Amino acid sequence: MRPLRKTMALHRPRRVSGMAGDPQTVWLFDLDNTLHDCSKGIFKAIDGAMTKAVADTLSLDVEAANALRSAYWKRYGATVIGMVRHHGAKADDFLRLSHSFDIAPLVHSENGLDRKLRQLKGRKVLLTNAPLDYARTVLKTLGILRHFECLWTMDHMNLQGRLRPKPSAALMRQILARLGVPAQRVVLVEDTLRNLKSARRAGMRTVHVFHPGTPFSSLHSGRCHYVDLRVKAIGRLLVGRHCLSTPGRPGRA
Ligand SMILES: [Mg+2]
Repeated sequence: MRPLRKTMALHRPRRVSGMAGDPQTVWLFDLDNTLHDCSKGIFKAIDGAMTKAVADTLSLDVEAANALRSAYWKRYGATVIGMVRHHGAKADDFLRLSHSFDIAPLVHSENGLDRKLRQLKGRKVLLTNAPLDYARTVLKTLGILRHFECLWTMDHMNLQGRLRPKPSAALMRQILARLGVPAQRVVLVEDTLRNLKSARRAGMRTVHVFHPGTPFSSLHSGRCHYVDLRVKAIGRLLVGRHCLSTPGRPGRA
């Protein structure tokens, strides 16, 4: 089994004296609408760039490309999968095209995110279906890149020749194998419920970061059985983490 540190995009996290949480916990943080707020314009930019990428790749008009983009996102969890499976697109090329805009001015997050992550004990890994260059730019802009020991992005989700992003069960199993820790020590912090459901099936603990801009979030205004903790901001992890000590007993912070 290949060790995690040899296969992912690595960073050396700054060692600090943490103030909250369990140092043995591995926090898997999603990116969009979890660590930053995409409702301020970045989703609109991604949608626009992705629609253009679909239109240019398949020679479609904007309306048809937009419908196809949306259909593939709903079906596969990522438009790029539909483009690869049904149109033979190269994933790297499509991801680069679909995130080719000025990212930094559109990045917004809750106040004090750097301090809050510093205070949260445990290993931190980014787990996002977005491409690596985009993820790194967002984390750098937020000033929080140093907290993550590795960035696990769409670039690293090719399993046995097929892209398997979240919520793939195979991906969840691979993550646990590479981390080398029991599933109950791993916490997925995420705004998309289907990804949390998959993590729970793999034995992980789950934190739902509620964001009204996340697709389908309004359908689940209450708490789901596979969610251990529901928060509206990352900072609430510092006060709500105790709910994670007993899997299956959901809480709210
Ligand atoms: Mg997200």
